[in-house]
Amino acid sequence: MAWLNLASWLSCTEVEGPGRRAALWVQGCDKRCSGCCNPDYLKIVERQLVDASTVLANLLRAHDECQLEGITLLGGEPFLQALGLAEVAEGASRAGLSVMTFTGYTMEELHALSLPGTRELLTWTDVLVDGPYQAALPDQHRNWVGSTNQRFHYLSNRYDPTIETSAGLMRGIELRVRRDGHLVVNGWPIAIG
Ligand code: SF4
Repeated sequence: MAWLNLASWLSCTEVEGPGRRAALWVQGCDKRCSGCCNPDYLKIVERQLVDASTVLANLLRAHDECQLEGITLLGGEPFLQALGLAEVAEGASRAGLSVMTFTGYTMEELHALSLPGTRELLTWTDVLVDGPYQAALPDQHRNWVGSTNQRFHYLSNRYDPTIETSAGLMRGIELRVRRDGHLVVNGWPIAIG
């Protein structure tokens, strides 16, 4: 059984990939991009340890409730927890959900590092967005990405590059107030001007 160290998750969002999706943020990243939008998720410390089968069960329950199109895996760095995420991605994919994965590594780095579970997670990923956020290269046009160096890789025939700029898909942010009163923000802001 593989374990995941989660920073956060949302059962239903419309700003983390095409359509309505559940999103999982894992804790821990070994990059330190200036301007990273999730600085609290970078330290490699224990947050919420959950086994992959429980995570998958929660996602499938969210799918029943929200009729999801897919799941999105973010961080932190998903490929530092690729073994557990591959299990989640496989189960989600077998249930008909698409899988979108964001990584701060480039595809070339992923292949060179060959972290445990990398091959399996790539196998069950439909769209991979790679590369670290670079604040000096802001991307004002494509959906979901922060900087122009980040690349979309279509690893199945489920999607194609039209999703990157489709006006029907959402580039924006969602605001939620948690039960404890904290404001939670996710997504990328719409460019103004
Ligand atoms: S790779 Fe992603 S999560 Fe890691 S520091 Fe860079 S922007 Fe943040």
